[in-house]
Amino acid sequence: AVGMPMGLWTIGVLLVVIAMTGCSAASPRWAIAIHGGAGAIKKGEAPELEPRYREAMRRVLDEGKKRLAAGEAALDVSEALVRMLEDDELFNAGRGAVLTERGEVELDAAIMDGATMQAGAVTGVQTVRHPITLARRVMERTPHVLLIGQGAEAFADEAGVERVANEWFITPRRREQLERELKRRAREKASAQTTSASTDARFGTVGVVALDRSGRLAAATSTGGMTGKRPGRVGDAPLIGSGTYANGTAAVSCTGTGEQFIRHAVASGVAARIELAGENVEMAAGHFVFRVLNTGDGGLIAVDRQGRIAMPYSSAGMYRAAADSAGRDEVRIWEE
Ligand code: ASP
Repeated sequence: AVGMPMGLWTIGVLLVVIAMTGCSAASPRWAIAIHGGAGAIKKGEAPELEPRYREAMRRVLDEGKKRLAAGEAALDVSEALVRMLEDDELFNAGRGAVLTERGEVELDAAIMDGATMQAGAVTGVQTVRHPITLARRVMERTPHVLLIGQGAEAFADEAGVERVANEWFITPRRREQLERELKRRAREKASAQTTSASTDARFGTVGVVALDRSGRLAAATSTGGMTGKRPGRVGDAPLIGSGTYANGTAAVSCTGTGEQFIRHAVASGVAARIELAGENVEMAAGHFVFRVLNTGDGGLIAVDRQGRIAMPYSSAGMYRAAADSAGRDEVRIWEE
């Protein structure tokens, strides 16, 4: 090799590089991002809660990594992880969801399979333990996309999806948050200031976006909405294209002031900007969070078909986690 002419060396090195890239392109790749909501606790505000949030996100992320590495479908993984978060009372979904101004829980959820463009969603359900699973049943067992309230709950019985009493969802922490929010409103009214939704009013909607080893994308979002919401209010989470979306290009799940994400059709907009404007997922997601929405409106998670992840937010923080087959592995609350 000592006497080998430079030209041959170059060709040799090139062949090795081509072989390596060829291998990694052919080897299946997966990626996952999870959010536990914008409107996270502020730095130093609740030191006892911070490690609990981190541990919860870590547990869910590890489960997602294991499943995707084993070749499970993005759709199954998204549903399974959202179910875990729905059962965790730290998050505003399922048990531990925030309360309406009447002190009840009204849950919204949606799931979308980017590989088939199938989608299912439910809104205003009050007795379904896992709204994300009910959303999936709507997708798979009805010709519809979105079921509301009583009709959705009757369908839960038909589809064998577990129901619980409304009180089962309610935790002392959410009662206190509602009381604070109602007091804040009363004060605002008394001082005749205009009401802007308190950033304290949203806590921990959950969402998962995933790319599986077969190249399929899926998105799932589940929430109790916003603290002190008017009964019957529907947020962005169950609206396909607003808070939840997946196609062959990207999977997106949003969190924040739902009305803003609805007005700007954010979730499908991210995929559209990648497709039509040729932006990468970071640019497309950032466009909405930093240029279209107002500061403080919230954030989103997105993964594209190459497994690239974006998790921009403009709130004080966003519980979030990401991992991929190339070794990315992180759990975050703020910029840290
Ligand atoms: N986006 C949710 C909603 O408006 C709330 C949240 O993400 O915290 O219902």
